[in-house]
Amino acid sequence: MSATQELHSKILLKNGLLATFTKADATTASPNARRVDVLVAGDTIIAIEEPGKLQVPRDGLVIDCTDKWIAPGFVDTHRHVWMSVVDNHEDWTLTEYLAKHTFTTALFITAEDVYIGQLAGCLQALHGGTTSVVDHFHCANSVSHIEKAIRATTESGLRSMLCVSRQSLATSIDPLSFDNDADVSKMQLEMLQSLASKDHGRLTPDGRVTLGLAYDVQGLDPQEDKRVLSLARELNITPITAHYVGGPHGRAYSKKIKAWNDAGLLKGDVIFSHGNDLRHKGNDPSEWDMLKQTGASIAATPEDELGMGHGDPVTYEAVKRGVKVGLGIDCASANSTEMFPAMRFALQYERGRINAADASEDKAVKYNAYTAASAFRLGTLGGAEAAHVESKIGSIEVGKLADIVLYDANSFNLANCTDPFRGIVFHATAADVEWVIVNGEVVKKEGKLLKKDWSEVVKKLKQSAAGIKERMVDVDLERKYDSIIRQFRLVTV
Ligand SMILES: [Zn+2]
Repeated sequence: MSATQELHSKILLKNGLLATFTKADATTASPNARRVDVLVAGDTIIAIEEPGKLQVPRDGLVIDCTDKWIAPGFVDTHRHVWMSVVDNHEDWTLTEYLAKHTFTTALFITAEDVYIGQLAGCLQALHGGTTSVVDHFHCANSVSHIEKAIRATTESGLRSMLCVSRQSLATSIDPLSFDNDADVSKMQLEMLQSLASKDHGRLTPDGRVTLGLAYDVQGLDPQEDKRVLSLARELNITPITAHYVGGPHGRAYSKKIKAWNDAGLLKGDVIFSHGNDLRHKGNDPSEWDMLKQTGASIAATPEDELGMGHGDPVTYEAVKRGVKVGLGIDCASANSTEMFPAMRFALQYERGRINAADASEDKAVKYNAYTAASAFRLGTLGGAEAAHVESKIGSIEVGKLADIVLYDANSFNLANCTDPFRGIVFHATAADVEWVIVNGEVVKKEGKLLKKDWSEVVKKLKQSAAGIKERMVDVDLERKYDSIIRQFRLVTV
């Protein structure tokens, strides 16, 4: 696959309209965009000044941003990047997904499938202006599956906190059994140890890909929780991310917040994805306080949470309670690869909820409680906070790593928007993402990805997807689903 390198010692972004939150802005603020020059040296933003004040670097790249918006790249806090290779399941519920994917299809995935799915998934992220992901890699079926995921991520140019899973792998679905878990645990933990020992968790020399832990052990196993989380912290593996759902569709995921807090395992390196159970009736409200006190965070994925029955998104409830929260797309096989819909779903769900509550008392809402800018923050600086890396990424500020997106402000979608925060949240798509810079390296230039040839990637992606289907030709997914409904004692309608 062909690749182009665009490394410049300096990059000057001239006269662009800058849209960013800074650490000084409140979470619900609506900052003003301003026209600036931005200078990048190596991997870092070294100056932001009024236009014309910075010297043009002699050996660097100069981009005229007169008709562009300059914004931080999105930080996706919950994404299963490799899943770009599996068949789409946009109409599935969460239990259907567990029965048909997690306990079944995932076991038919080869290491080569992982490589191409992971590569495609990283490129999809970059194409849409996502420069960083917390990658919950839950296909740790073997050492080579993990190695292929790392290789593809490294080749893509994306910044990734690659959270390798300590996960259960089903050996039988009826009855549901994980009776090989001792061997699986040994393989996965040895791999984590070996990766962590190489270069302090850096999986690439420039630190763009780092090692995290995804924890997906089925059921409640306090001893394994303690063993694995303690080991991760001993090895300085961060962040630690785990699914936490609740509700009738997500009963399989246990109530980890309280369990981990009571065991002294809940700390400021943890990210819980979804967190919908926090809204549930009868749920212990003190769990919110546990998150706030420890600095643990929520990664909300409102698009598939609403569609699959996870429960109502808790995004803005977390904002209101001062709990760190970011957004994610979860997986390309269920919904958009872009963060734009994630911001829209989060914001419009919350507005709809407030409007409906007021309408039920015959009251009209005078002003919306949350602006577009608040959703922009969730996709950028809020995501960096939730991933516990806000000192390095998530905003355009001097000293931060240069993860920058340039939007075409003359595009079909954006041409008449005067406010880039509103434009990016409500109108933009990947088509408007013109340039993407990660760690000071140009990876998308004038609308085209540079590191890999997408047409080559997609050929192999389709071959892999066809191979998975072929291997599963005799698998009756509906029968497996019925058996899981029976075993979970799920009341269906
Ligand atoms: Zn997930």
